Amino acid sequence: MTTSSTRYERTAIVAGGGIGGLAAAIGLRRAGWSVTVLERRPDLHEIGAGWSFAPNAVRAADALGVGDELRAVSVPTQAGATLRTPAGSYLMRFRPGRDTALLANHRADLHDALLAHLPAECVRAAAEVTGIEQSDSGAVVAYRTPDGQGQVTADIVVGADGIHSAVRRSVFPNASGPVFQRVLCWRGVSTPGSVWPVDGFQTWGRGARFGAHPLPGQRVFWFLTVRQDRPDTRYDDDLAEIRHRIGDWHDPIPALLDATPPESVLRHDIYDLDPLDTYTRHRVALLGDAAHAMTPFLAQGACQAFEDATVLAAQLSGDTDIPTALAHYDRLRRPRSQRVQRLARQDPKISLSTNPLTYGLMTRLTQMAGAAVAARKSAPLWNWTPPALDTHSTPVNRE
Ligand SMILES: Cc1cc2nc3c(=O)[nH]c(=O)nc-3n(C[C@H](O)[C@H](O)[C@H](O)COP(=O)(O)OP(=O)(O)OC[C@H]3O[C@@H](n4cnc5c(N)ncnc54)[C@H](O)[C@@H]3O)c2cc1C
Repeated sequence: MTTSSTRYERTAIVAGGGIGGLAAAIGLRRAGWSVTVLERRPDLHEIGAGWSFAPNAVRAADALGVGDELRAVSVPTQAGATLRTPAGSYLMRFRPGRDTALLANHRADLHDALLAHLPAECVRAAAEVTGIEQSDSGAVVAYRTPDGQGQVTADIVVGADGIHSAVRRSVFPNASGPVFQRVLCWRGVSTPGSVWPVDGFQTWGRGARFGAHPLPGQRVFWFLTVRQDRPDTRYDDDLAEIRHRIGDWHDPIPALLDATPPESVLRHDIYDLDPLDTYTRHRVALLGDAAHAMTPFLAQGACQAFEDATVLAAQLSGDTDIPTALAHYDRLRRPRSQRVQRLARQDPKISLSTNPLTYGLMTRLTQMAGAAVAARKSAPLWNWTPPALDTHSTPVNRE
């Protein structure tokens, strides 16, 4: 592992090889840094299900030089502007040529595309970061591998190690931990070609919200979020529980459930973070869920991680001294990402309300407002312009 720290080859350790960590590594390499990603998992490849990316993330991906890769693994989804009731009537319908389609992809496909953009030696698997010590000249990262303990010194550390971030705990020991948002989410992917075509939609029930996005390969990603008072609730058969709750909802929901292998259904309690006072300390910057984990209701968590990575790389691409560059990163990123984080916490309080009056009001107002009003609401999230990134490194082509 390279540990040298010179003026001309500045070094960064990125803790976490999720979507945010890989985006940060790509951005920093573009900015001329030597980067090592330490990923806890023994296998670098993601599993998971699908997700969607809004225009702000696509622009960030373009600035990072991975926009084409993102588009190549994605298909358009209308789920951002097609909203239905459980009986199938439309509260709002996507208007082709007028509404913005989001880009949907499978997490594993996007993760692999980003990995292919980094040299193999840049990403180290089975290396769990356990703590950080800082001095004026750099940061020392302690990590654990199956062979024992190690440490490495770098000019900066990027904590991209997710909602339970060890970097955050080490650098901000007094920051509060993840907060359960009384929401449970199930996710699944239908087998290729079994239910096709699907344009993408969301269906709002009382205390339950279903969504579906088409994926490449004629697969469909679906999710169901429901109110849940306690975390760690287990069901003997998740798919049976889902059918019990929404098995009589409109087509093609029952068919999508039937086309999903039961053992592949994912269940996730939804946590977020309280807003942090700062994302940086001396030579450490937090990014993505480590900094601002949010509920998935605005589908912006990974989008914000992409924005973080772009701004961090832009701030660190010049000759600015490191603490000043990181302070700028914090100043630029915290207000926006925490606004999104707060909105994402607020959203399920209404959209997942089990109160019949709130549900009735929400659906009526949504129907009256229509897609144009919804688009105006999304504009502050989606109309984000990335900073320009100077290019100091060439992309990697792996055969
Ligand atoms: C149900 C659901 C649906 C979602 N849908 C969307 C969506 O449609 N659009 C969207 O933009 N966002 C969505 N999100 C949010 C998105 O999943 C996250 O915001 C995003 O994955 C954050 O990326 P990250 O890299 O910051 O963190 P993570 O994806 O959590 O990655 C962190 C990485 O760090 C590694 N790690 C952890 N600890 C250590 C350690 N100590 N040392 C080394 N490595 C470590 C982990 O193994 C992991 O690989 C959704 C979230 C959920 C829960």
